[in-house]
Amino acid sequence: MGCPSQIPGWFPVAVVFLLILGTGFAYIDAICHVTHGVLRQWEVSWFLVLLCLTVTSLLRTMLTAPGQPPASPPAIASVSTLPGRPSGIVCIDGKMNGAPRYCRKCKQWKPDRSHHCVECGRCALRMDHHCTFVGNCIGLRNHKYFLLFLLWSALTAAWISKSLLLTLNFSEITQRRLPIRIYIELVGSVIVGSAVAIVLGAFSAMQFWFMFQGYTTIDFMEKKGTKRFGKPYVNYYNVDFATNFLQVFGIASSSSSFSCLTLPIRWLLPVHPTIPTDGIVFPLSQRYLEDHPCAVGTRDRSRAES
Ligand SMILES: [Zn+2]
Ligand SMILES: [Zn+2]
Repeated sequence: MGCPSQIPGWFPVAVVFLLILGTGFAYIDAICHVTHGVLRQWEVSWFLVLLCLTVTSLLRTMLTAPGQPPASPPAIASVSTLPGRPSGIVCIDGKMNGAPRYCRKCKQWKPDRSHHCVECGRCALRMDHHCTFVGNCIGLRNHKYFLLFLLWSALTAAWISKSLLLTLNFSEITQRRLPIRIYIELVGSVIVGSAVAIVLGAFSAMQFWFMFQGYTTIDFMEKKGTKRFGKPYVNYYNVDFATNFLQVFGIASSSSSFSCLTLPIRWLLPVHPTIPTDGIVFPLSQRYLEDHPCAVGTRDRSRAES
């Protein structure tokens, strides 16, 4: 998923910023001009709120490290017992010979769902994928910001298209003598807004579906790979709809008595989530215990059913 080596890593990131800021400027300039200089306050205010959420989510995705595995596995006794998870198990994934997963590049142990990223040169906890367009790995600590970036950018783009296509009178605009710049901005904003809304809308729908099903992108690709070899795949990290969501978007903080009230708002904002996992042990589905009745105190050797 990385960019070709001849393209510098900052280039796709710069393109994303130029696209966002350029389209935003073109939209505001055009809509203010065609409405006789009278700012459509309600329309433009909502756009600026959406734009602010998009840019903040993007910056937090870029600047938040996904999290790195500790140098060595925690002692079994110190591993917290999570709902639906048998105590005494650090990892459920391992090599075929039963040895713990190991990263040869980082020369250290790799927990479940951690993977080494070639572009970043390090392992990332609960790695989803490396995103060239944000120049960072998407993993445990910035997965929420990434999903919010997709959501808010798709909605911002849709807002631009809706605002221009449904509220402006194009037959009137074409009869007026406006600067050529305004016509270019209008057409450009509609085309870019519609295209981004469709592409990112579809991509964010897919990413949210992965999240609600308890998959990371890498998990899902592994599932496809396993099916290709004729082996059934069981996603033991798919606990239930709500648990899967809270693993990414966070739970109420125990330090604040108002946290439960503000939690739904926090889910929508690019603010730090209280993630109920350390990125080493994850809650498991009931299916895991059914398939591994003697799991306590043991290390499973393969997640693929034989
Ligand atoms: Zn590594
Ligand atoms: Zn990476």
